[in-house]
Amino acid sequence: MGVIIAKSLNEACVVLAENPATTVLAGGTDLMVQANRGMQSMDSVLDLSRILELKEWTLKDSEIVLGAGISYTDLAEPQIATVVPALAQAARTVGSPQIRNAGTLGGNLATASPAGDTIPVLVAMDAVLQLKSSSGNREVAITDFITGVKSNALQAGEIIQSITMPVFQGPQEFLKVGTRNAMVISVVSLALVTDYLGRKLRVGVGSVSPVPFRATEAEEFISQEFDWEKNSSLSEKVINKFSDMVADSTKPIDDHRGTADYRKHAVGILAKRALERVCANGES
Ligand SMILES: Cc1cc2nc3c(=O)[nH]c(=O)nc-3n(C[C@H](O)[C@H](O)[C@H](O)COP(=O)(O)OP(=O)(O)OC[C@H]3O[C@@H](n4cnc5c(N)ncnc54)[C@H](O)[C@@H]3O)c2cc1C
Repeated sequence: MGVIIAKSLNEACVVLAENPATTVLAGGTDLMVQANRGMQSMDSVLDLSRILELKEWTLKDSEIVLGAGISYTDLAEPQIATVVPALAQAARTVGSPQIRNAGTLGGNLATASPAGDTIPVLVAMDAVLQLKSSSGNREVAITDFITGVKSNALQAGEIIQSITMPVFQGPQEFLKVGTRNAMVISVVSLALVTDYLGRKLRVGVGSVSPVPFRATEAEEFISQEFDWEKNSSLSEKVINKFSDMVADSTKPIDDHRGTADYRKHAVGILAKRALERVCANGES
């Protein structure tokens, strides 16, 4: 096995350009599972974990830019958590402390699992990925980046450099259901993000279709019903309709983690619970 430990993004891009078949390694929490199963070639490895640029983040002009190498532990730190609370909540639910120390945002996106916990949040927020290669840079919307179950839009030689998303004013929630409380892959996940300035409630759902998506009809409905001036509580009828609309927007499958019926039911419950919490947190 040949391993190159890159010290800069430019160096990493040059290495990948010279040998596009090189396996990119970040925290290794997905990759090493695949390697141990013999499903991932490790003949030639490019380690990104020492590239400081990938661990940086900036906040400016109502946008936050997160380096792809930021770990879950760092996402859950107060400086980032106060800006994108739903992402921090998602980060706190991932794996164990060891996995959260090693696993990165970029790795979660490149793996593109329907159960990837950061993805519903990023979908709800219309995040954009910055991709870099030795031949240039490009930006791809999260919904165009995740192209199917565990497939993405990365081209040969490209590295995810960072992820940019708007900073929204208002409470946020991320909730997931698993077969136990900790160290568990999502059976269903949901992010609810309030945008007080745009008067919009944004909903991202995961594990209920091949690709996480926004429940746009449910968003339209609840954004009109929400009391943006007084933030008074919503009626049970409105909350239940929202919950049903989110559930109806999903196309889950039966698998070893849960049945399609269970997933539909559970995502409705998560929608209801998230909405109730957002209403309670937004009360002045
Ligand atoms: C015990 C355990 C529990 C887990 N629990 C959860 C969970 O609760 N929720 C969840 O969502 N996930 C979970 N995971 C999966 C995993 O931790 C995450 O998907 C993690 O974010 C992967 O990031 P990484 O840095 O470890 O990526 P790696 O394993 O290093 O890489 C994963 C893939 O991404 C590519 N890649 C990594 N970084 C980049 C980059 N910057 N540019 C281009 N390609 C890149 C690699 O080439 C590889 O294909 C768990 C894993 C384990 C082992």
